[in-house]
Amino acid sequence: MSQKAEKNRLYKILEIAPDASEAEIKKAYRKLAMKYHPDKNAHNPDASDKFKEIGHAYEILSDPQKRNIYDQYGEEGLSGEGGMGAGMSAEDLFSQFFGGGGMGGMGGMFGGGMQQQGPKRSRDIVHVHKVALEDLYKGKVSKLALQKSVLCSKCDGRGGKEGSVKKCTGCDGLGMKTMMRQMGPMIQRFQTVCSDCNGEGEMIKDKDRCKTCHGKKTITERKVLHVHVDKGMQDGQKVTFKGEGDQGPDITPGDVIFVIEQKPHARFQRKGDDLYYQAEIDLLTALAGGTIAVEHLDERWLTVTINPGEVISPGVIKVVRGQGMPSYRHHDYGNLYIQFDVKFPPDHFNDPMKIAMLESILPPRNLPEISVDAMVDDVILEEVDQSQQARVSANAMEDDEDPHQGAERVQCASQ
Ligand SMILES: [Zn+2]
Ligand SMILES: [Zn+2]
Repeated sequence: MSQKAEKNRLYKILEIAPDASEAEIKKAYRKLAMKYHPDKNAHNPDASDKFKEIGHAYEILSDPQKRNIYDQYGEEGLSGEGGMGAGMSAEDLFSQFFGGGGMGGMGGMFGGGMQQQGPKRSRDIVHVHKVALEDLYKGKVSKLALQKSVLCSKCDGRGGKEGSVKKCTGCDGLGMKTMMRQMGPMIQRFQTVCSDCNGEGEMIKDKDRCKTCHGKKTITERKVLHVHVDKGMQDGQKVTFKGEGDQGPDITPGDVIFVIEQKPHARFQRKGDDLYYQAEIDLLTALAGGTIAVEHLDERWLTVTINPGEVISPGVIKVVRGQGMPSYRHHDYGNLYIQFDVKFPPDHFNDPMKIAMLESILPPRNLPEISVDAMVDDVILEEVDQSQQARVSANAMEDDEDPHQGAERVQCASQ
């Protein structure tokens, strides 16, 4: 099991339970990010990795959509989306969380790492959209509903009556307070969450609080988006709705991103714009020609003729040009590759006299080549029973670098 696959790993990183509330997630991140910030851990080289890990866990768990995907599919489900490479850097996340350049005291404490880059932006909402191969062949529009935060229209996103929202005096609106602590001969400065406003930086009297959003400034709204799944889209391709992410006070909404996931198909495998199909034909068709039919992705059936005289060997791959997937945008069609499997007739499918007639039709037998001075042992060929069959296949799968070892195993097993 890979490290990433460990169940609830992200929750363990933040030292919280898998059913932690959003507030608990936020609190845990605040505590750990402060503790492991590289600027505070110059003598602990592991702290930087730990800090990144904490940022990564928070980025996913603090986003209800990503958290939902993570809970269902684990980190694999977020394939690159929440990863540190693709997502926000741990430093950016940290400065967004703590309000960036606004944090006077923090700036001094953490040096240059805190500069704000542009306006704050809400996180992108990433959603996996599973699509059938038929729909990627023909194209379709999916209507997908999404829950998002929008600014409360009742209070215009203020949280209460105009003028009722006051900056917290305890922390001067920062949400954090700088505290001093005597440590022997040294005075240590450290940051702590403002207890007056619970880190909000603001206070509203209960009676002035907006009744619609309860002072949160935003409400959750259901929005339906029309996702155009275009012909020829590939697994992993993204459809982005710019600025459709969560709204919030003083932030630019992020994007809503749908990641197309191609569902496995019963008949076809897809490689780029090409399709692969397995066809089983009977021996007569393989030797004397015939017709096969392939059900395509758009209700058409393709009939493929094997001409008499054309011999289809088991495993051979042939191509039907232009019957693969349409390419994205240009709609040039790829190819359909058909791999043949030949179904042989059962034992005694005809009387021996007639079977002997095959000798006059088929190319002659290859006679065994045995050197003249060899000792010849005449042995009997039997059917393999079920348990032997399993052992034979298991041995066939071993790497054959040491054939001696394989032989020994067979011996041991048969004692
Ligand atoms: Zn405060
Ligand atoms: Zn409101």
